[in-house]
Amino acid sequence: MENIYNLTKEQLIEYLLKYQGKKYHGEELFRWLYEKKIKSFDEATNIKKEIRNHLESDFFIGELDVVQIERDRDVNKYLFELQDKEHVEAVLMRHDYGNSICVSSQVGCNMGCKFCESGRRKKVRNLTTGEMVEQVLRIEKDLGERISHVVVMGIGEPFDNYDNLIDFIKIINDPNGLQIGSRHITVSTCGIIPKIEEFSSFPYQVNLAISLHAPNDTLRSSLMPINKVYPLKKLIPVLKKYTEKTSRRLTFEYILLKNVNDSNQCAEELSRLIEKMNAYVNLIPYNATENLDFSRSDAFQIMKFYDILKKNHINVTIRKEFGSKISAACGQLRSKKEDI
Ligand code: SAH
Repeated sequence: MENIYNLTKEQLIEYLLKYQGKKYHGEELFRWLYEKKIKSFDEATNIKKEIRNHLESDFFIGELDVVQIERDRDVNKYLFELQDKEHVEAVLMRHDYGNSICVSSQVGCNMGCKFCESGRRKKVRNLTTGEMVEQVLRIEKDLGERISHVVVMGIGEPFDNYDNLIDFIKIINDPNGLQIGSRHITVSTCGIIPKIEEFSSFPYQVNLAISLHAPNDTLRSSLMPINKVYPLKKLIPVLKKYTEKTSRRLTFEYILLKNVNDSNQCAEELSRLIEKMNAYVNLIPYNATENLDFSRSDAFQIMKFYDILKKNHINVTIRKEFGSKISAACGQLRSKKEDI
């Protein structure tokens, strides 16, 4: 039996056509699943009984188990248990423009970034498309409100789970599905070049975020092993081509780590690296974790770094902070659970 949430509308239509269904049955079923959020195929009353019987024997309607929720004023953190008892997390952030969630794409992660909690555990497996979709559905259910924005920035490297990621985007964007606008969807990657190139041909205006975290190859390789495979000197030209081809929004994420990558010189070097790229820089105050050797830059140095980028005409913002109180740094909830 397969999870029905693994299927894009096109795949569902293809399935239904095999059983003398019509194309519009696929659209209707999508509405039943994503608007009315049915829990059994029998509820889809305008779909022929015969087709419903096929659906029932081939598919289940998945739902993630929530094992823990930490709530704060404008942020909730969810720890989910998957069918094989693995755990992933997702975070809800309430913004003035809507509800945004950060979803996970893998159980564990193989990228090994030195500052990141998620990478403490190697990748166990990719999440299925359905498991990603269910994170959105389960949080909507908890809130009783619509999710308007999705960022794929939780546990895992989304471009290391490319096909499921693409189907996930198609489903949450679908006009008969969750209807999350493509400009409200952001995928974050550590910089897997072949997938960035492939993504540039994916015809959806989705935002791309690159975890940069250093302005030169020596420093970046020491923080992010992936840089040895896809160094900045190759990555930056690929990103320039990507924005020329797609005109999509590109953001560089840069965690400020005290005395590691937060000097004035780093800010100048970063400005030169990305000048004329029409990209945004999002400066991220580091969320301290228990196990690692890094600490957050001082408020003064964060502002100094920001000012230097501004002076150099770089579009820069400092990430609004959510939930460091409730261990919302990527991967922390799960690490805590597994330490217990
Ligand atoms: N693998 C993808 C997506 C997951 S990481 C990527 O690398 O982009 C999501 C973002 O959170 C990345 O920019 C990552 O570098 C950042 N991050 C990881 N640990 C953090 C911490 N302790 N504090 C703040 N940001 C962190």
